[in-house]
Amino acid sequence: MFKIGFIGLGIMGKPMAKNLLKAGYKLTVFDINNEVVREVAAAGANEGKSAADVAAQSDLIITMLPNSPEVEQVVLGNDGVLATAQPGTILVDMSSIAPLVSRKLSDKLNAKGIVMLDAPVSGGEPKAIDGSLAIMVGGPEEAFNKVKDVLSAMGSSVKLVGDIGSGNVTKLANQIIVALNIAAMSEAMVLATKAGVDPEKVYQAIRGGLAGSTVLDAKMPLVLNGNFKPGFRIELHIKDLMNVIDTAKGIDAPVMLTQKVLEMMKSLRDEGKAKDDHGGLIQYYEKLAKTEVRS
Ligand code: NAD
Repeated sequence: MFKIGFIGLGIMGKPMAKNLLKAGYKLTVFDINNEVVREVAAAGANEGKSAADVAAQSDLIITMLPNSPEVEQVVLGNDGVLATAQPGTILVDMSSIAPLVSRKLSDKLNAKGIVMLDAPVSGGEPKAIDGSLAIMVGGPEEAFNKVKDVLSAMGSSVKLVGDIGSGNVTKLANQIIVALNIAAMSEAMVLATKAGVDPEKVYQAIRGGLAGSTVLDAKMPLVLNGNFKPGFRIELHIKDLMNVIDTAKGIDAPVMLTQKVLEMMKSLRDEGKAKDDHGGLIQYYEKLAKTEVRS
């Protein structure tokens, strides 16, 4: 059985690490926030002192960090994974980062005999807690097969989609679809409410038809309660959509709807709502329409 190191115990990483403990894996954990390290240690993990300390004690390292710079820091930085990880180690980065950075890190790790998989997730905090995330993986099939059981302790769907970086390309596709769905829901519900129809009734009437979606069912109840506590923060979705734009530029792919929703999210960020849940995007429409969508 793997000795697992887990680095990054935020909204997502903490429940994911706890699910690995519940499944019986031995875990050494690290985060720059000592408080969460102590909380996961209380659930049965060993406390690591740094990323390098975690890597020295593990043959499978999982990272769940905000974005590319943090993953680069944890892997390549002083006291990072590369300083101590042994050849044969597998690193699974479950953060959502730029696909090009995954490929660059993989090259550096491969040079030291370490295999990398990029394995971002979808599903948010509730699915991280109940272990039913969708996990999209890029990298060598042999390493994927070795870690599949471990990933299955955190997710109900674990799919290999291609070479290193493919997991993050898939996640970018996921994030376009989620962002545009939230924007469509916001536009529609503000229109319906301003036109004088109860938004709760509109939601109930359409959720079983073609307009129904996981996004609608996850976000409308929160919107109706005016609850924009994260969940998935607007600032993280901005990060993902900027990674979409960068990736699209490199390959000349059209992303005009993503551009538009990114502008809306940035405008909310500049109004101090960066830490709201991304369902809070509706506030952009509500402000323009001077109409709140509440039950
Ligand atoms: P978060 O900000 O809550 O957690 C990140 C954790 O990383 C924090 O605890 C932070 O202290 C730690 N960290 C930052 N730099 C570090 C370093 N150098 N060394 C060690 N620890 C460090 O973010 P999150 O919501 O858990 O998201 C993590 C990743 O998962 C992101 O890439 C995000 O886009 C993605 N994601 C999030 C959700 C969601 O709903 N929150 C859903 C799917 C995917």
